[in-house]
Amino acid sequence: KIMRTPIIAGNWKLNKNPQETTEFVNAIKNDLPKNTDVETLICAPAVDLPALIEAAKGSELHVGAENCYFEDEGAYTGETSPKVLNEMGIDYVIIGHSERRGYFHETDEDINKKAKAIFANNMKPILCCGESLETREAGKAEEFVEGQIKADLEGLSADQVSNMVIAYEPIWAIGTGKTATADQAEEMCAAIRKTVADLYDETVADKVRIQYGGSVKPANVKEIMSKENIDGGLIGGAALQPDSFLQLAHYKD
Ligand code: PEP
Repeated sequence: KIMRTPIIAGNWKLNKNPQETTEFVNAIKNDLPKNTDVETLICAPAVDLPALIEAAKGSELHVGAENCYFEDEGAYTGETSPKVLNEMGIDYVIIGHSERRGYFHETDEDINKKAKAIFANNMKPILCCGESLETREAGKAEEFVEGQIKADLEGLSADQVSNMVIAYEPIWAIGTGKTATADQAEEMCAAIRKTVADLYDETVADKVRIQYGGSVKPANVKEIMSKENIDGGLIGGAALQPDSFLQLAHYKD
């Protein structure tokens, strides 16, 4: 397996307040793996980020946002500035999550603009992609995900793509308790890497980290992480409790 630092990331979605955020980080911060071995990251709601950043200071934990806008400032009521996220100390921003694509009608064009804004502000995007059950059953999953990747990466440099994270999250496996089999996940992550190789080159494809997301939990993380093209997990439900997040982070033990 090519050496890419694995990345175990929690996506809290619309859960936890600042106090719960502080308590969670205090419960895990002294037991996290070394960054050079397994990178760990919590992505929290915008209102919890000051608490997350403060509590994570001096620890191995990276801090991320779940979304941002593609403009730094202006008349955009209710949006979150990528420039301010960077000033606050945020490392990663999730973009293109299926909940944002679905409930908030985000398009590939929006997502592409967000990716560019995140890089312009010295942070890294975690780009989510993934097909619906209907698309999978129609035998069009790979074609669909490839289309998302091409549209979402449009105009990004080789260096940027080398340093970002892509998360394959089949919609039918998110929050449903249904996990893609490790082989299904590996197959799509390999296809995504090939798409990156076709768009850029093998060096970029070897560097980009690809996570699987969709009902990852302590019981299945080891098998998923054993796959050649899977470099991490993006985890919702099982990242909400300190114990289970630590077990995920220590999947190698
Ligand atoms: C997610 O929201 O990114 C996710 C994968 O959720 P869950 O782990 O709960 O399926």
